[in-house]
Amino acid sequence: EPVLVLEGVCKTYGEGALAVEVLHDIDLRLQAGEFAALIGPSGSGKSTLLNLIGLLDRPSRGRLVIAGHDTGALPEAELTRLRGRALGFVFQHHHLINAFSALENVMMPLLVERGRQDAAMRATAARLLAQVGLGDRLDARPDRLSGGQQQRVAIARALTMGPPLVLADEPTGNLDTQTSDAVFSLLREVNRAQGTSFLIVTHDPRLAARCDRIIELVDGRIVADHPA
Ligand code: ADP
Ligand code: ADP
Repeated sequence: EPVLVLEGVCKTYGEGALAVEVLHDIDLRLQAGEFAALIGPSGSGKSTLLNLIGLLDRPSRGRLVIAGHDTGALPEAELTRLRGRALGFVFQHHHLINAFSALENVMMPLLVERGRQDAAMRATAARLLAQVGLGDRLDARPDRLSGGQQQRVAIARALTMGPPLVLADEPTGNLDTQTSDAVFSLLREVNRAQGTSFLIVTHDPRLAARCDRIIELVDGRIVADHPA
């Protein structure tokens, strides 16, 4: 069963005489458990595509289905709910809140949804932090952690709501080679352990080669889509 379906998706920026179509007729399907890289030169449309799939922007044309929900029909509030439940996000920068502990950062998505803390929430966050190798740093502030550890907390936070699909935009872009390899291995472990699908934007051919599938975008079109 696919976690993601795009059919004939186009995206145009601007209007009238200034309109420019930057994504053309994108067809893409991601099955549950797939671990895919999205590659392509700068300006090819990777961020635009990720913004559409991440429900931060809407396609100008075509169909986008996330975890069985046809998003075209959904009002803004429903999109926000779907984003919270069906998608996890990992960015190049970790976007953690330094005033909160690692545990509190990981709890945040649950806290936002439920409105108040409880013991089960703390337990979920602690389990996720243990899974990413930070079981002994629950109370650490993000600014006291290394870059690799910060990114591990960000990965744990992306998993808090148990999303079927995680979107990762250059998740190791700020890290040295060794740390980057270890963080990437962690994504792979999560994928294998709980069947979470990943779509990972990367400029690093070494990391793309470690994915199951490589999707290549050039000038707003998918020009290649094959096993790594
Ligand atoms: P890279 O491909 O190296 O990741 P990008 O070319 O995507 O870098 O640029 C970085 C950021 O700038 C992205 O978030 C992208 O959405 C934004 N961006 C790129 N081109 C434009 C543009 N013409 N107008 C507004 N934002 C843009
Ligand atoms: P990538 O992430 O692969 O670098 P982007 O999705 O950022 O590519 O950009 C794809 C194309 O869309 C580029 O030509 C970029 O300049 C243009 N673009 C991106 N964001 C905007 C925007 N907000 N307004 C107008 N053009 C944009």
